[in-house]
Amino acid sequence: MQFTIGGLQKTSLLDFPNKVSAIVFTQGCNFNCGYCHNPLLLKNQSKNDITVDVIFDFLNKRKGKLDGIVITGGEPTLQPDLKLFIQKIKEMSFLVKLDTNGTNPDIVSELLKEHLVDYIAMDIKAPLEKYSVVVNRNIKTEDIKKSVNLLLNSDIEYEFRTTVLPSLISIEDFNDIGTLIKDAQKYYLQKFEVQSEINDSTLVNEKNYTDEQFSQIIQIMKKYVKYAELR
Ligand code: SF4
Repeated sequence: MQFTIGGLQKTSLLDFPNKVSAIVFTQGCNFNCGYCHNPLLLKNQSKNDITVDVIFDFLNKRKGKLDGIVITGGEPTLQPDLKLFIQKIKEMSFLVKLDTNGTNPDIVSELLKEHLVDYIAMDIKAPLEKYSVVVNRNIKTEDIKKSVNLLLNSDIEYEFRTTVLPSLISIEDFNDIGTLIKDAQKYYLQKFEVQSEINDSTLVNEKNYTDEQFSQIIQIMKKYVKYAELR
């Protein structure tokens, strides 16, 4: 199976809402966000011997103890056998949450059509016109829009979320983000945090918006979406 794993977190109470989950990290991403906390996953430098069989053995032993599996990255939709991997997990009766940056709408669409995902979390990196700057890659923003619309019209639970780096996203930009995901179920803001691993070390002195500014952003987003919160 062509599915490269960068890491496994055996238990999480936070990453799959209201579920006890395990997290599978896939290797590689088509973005290069400066604030990425998994730079080793981006550069294909994670060293481990976790194969898909290791994951399936682990999950077989965790039946009844875990509700679901979070597949995150990197960017999971870059894995050629993502669908096959999820099918195997579904055969074991686990719920599946997919984290994606939204660049592969065809894959998201297929997974939705075949009822292979129970929850999707999609990053909204910036207003569309700023995307390429924030992710440090030239991308087709049309694909982001398509993925957004797939989630807005789906019948599964989903969320959109943005990591906020004030030097890249202004408070006014949230009107554009709100317009992009208008009527979404849930939207979360995530403060930029400096952790031991960060893709662009020049960001270590970056300041966050104040609590008051975050409240202002949430008020803006509440004009567009059903639920907005600072995570
Ligand atoms: S933050 Fe996510 S989308 Fe951005 S480079 Fe890291 S893994 Fe890729």
